[in-house]
Amino acid sequence: MEYAARERIPVTPRGAGTGLSGGCVPAAGGIVVSTERLNRIIDIDPADLIAVVEPGVITASLHSASEALGLFYPPDPGSCAFCTLGGNIAENAGGLRGLKYGVTRDYVMALDVVLPDGRTFQAGSRTRKNVTGYDMARLFTGSEGTLGFITGAVLKLIVLPEAKAGFLAAFDTLEAASEAVLAIIKSGITPSTLEIMDSVTLKAVASFSGRNDLDYGALLLIEVDGHEEDVARQSGKLLDALKNSGAKELRQARDAAEQEEIWTARRSALTALARISPSVILEDATVPRKEMTSMVRAIRSVAGKYGLLIGTFGHAGDGNLHPTIITDLRIEENKNKVKAAVGEIFEAALSLGGTLSGEHGIGIMKSSYMESELGAAGVEAMRAVKDAFDPQGIMNPGKIFV
Ligand SMILES: Cc1cc2nc3c(=O)[nH]c(=O)nc-3n(C[C@H](O)[C@H](O)[C@H](O)COP(=O)(O)OP(=O)(O)OC[C@H]3O[C@@H](n4cnc5c(N)ncnc54)[C@H](O)[C@@H]3O)c2cc1C
Repeated sequence: MEYAARERIPVTPRGAGTGLSGGCVPAAGGIVVSTERLNRIIDIDPADLIAVVEPGVITASLHSASEALGLFYPPDPGSCAFCTLGGNIAENAGGLRGLKYGVTRDYVMALDVVLPDGRTFQAGSRTRKNVTGYDMARLFTGSEGTLGFITGAVLKLIVLPEAKAGFLAAFDTLEAASEAVLAIIKSGITPSTLEIMDSVTLKAVASFSGRNDLDYGALLLIEVDGHEEDVARQSGKLLDALKNSGAKELRQARDAAEQEEIWTARRSALTALARISPSVILEDATVPRKEMTSMVRAIRSVAGKYGLLIGTFGHAGDGNLHPTIITDLRIEENKNKVKAAVGEIFEAALSLGGTLSGEHGIGIMKSSYMESELGAAGVEAMRAVKDAFDPQGIMNPGKIFV
């Protein structure tokens, strides 16, 4: 970084390159720094309940290393088998367990940071409590590599839940499934996972994975966890809420293997949709949970208006939908349609009190929409933070800001 600062060369940090907003693309050329070989789990401490890691550790490796000790690192993006913890921190990644356990930010205690001029410091500490000045670890989390380079992290762990149970609930329509999400939350339980898939996504997953049991209008995939007795109690309430919401079919996973099958099917959603056509544009506009049915309707109306095939799946418990446009961008006319459709999807999310991005970040893809959510003053305030850390503008330029 010292060399890059002296020579004014742009630097783009890169984890596994699985980001969905173009964050690791070296938009202004320069140096790409890969964390591939910064891949050690340095310590897992069962007394302090922390993991000390390098940024290139694959997320699922921390899951298995923690679980082997009876501990739990909850953030689990759908890409956890191949994305890195550094990329997760830089994007403040969410995942399937966000409803109950939160997102990456909730587990970041300290970060080793290299500033754009090459100086280093530790933001945060290994302690549960720390109010020494500004919360810089939180600021760097979700900063998309635009403020500095993360070279190490102290992450919070929790104790692994004793038991869990997984369920599938089928509905005639996506609207009915999203209404059932509200009924589940109102019944007084907080599932660890509450995912939704529409019929377009289900067909794609069925053909991708060779399953013939996914022919529904929409599906909810649900997991509850905790102590044995509590899981039984939550399961009872969950089944009641689903029956009362008009679920057409209810299935409980018989064992851990079947439960894992459910999550594998969900994790393959994007890959399965991407196989249908040469281009796939995935968004992650997020709305307050109560507005999810309205958002589902808005997405359907945009699809109809532009004659586009849109598969929708996502983290329903978080109001975080992933409308995925399946098209062929080699055809010029499709580019214009997709641009207009994406703009209208964002507009709908914002008008419902939502946000442009729940978890994938702004990167290159959404920078031109920033003002629509934050206003000019909001963007200027963020720009001032960026300029304070990176006055030369060499740290991942071309991201977040146009
Ligand atoms: C199939 C699939 C499913 C996905 N599911 C989810 C999901 O459920 N939830 C979710 O949130 N995301 C999901 N994603 C998106 C993606 O996996 C996440 O954003 C992930 O956090 C990116 O990690 P990465 O290691 O690939 O980072 P990269 O893509 O390499 O980089 C992402 C950003 O982080 C910056 N960065 C990387 N490392 C560092 C570092 N050490 N210091 C500073 N900046 C750094 C880069 O510059 C870039 O801006 C999914 C992606 C795919 C392909």
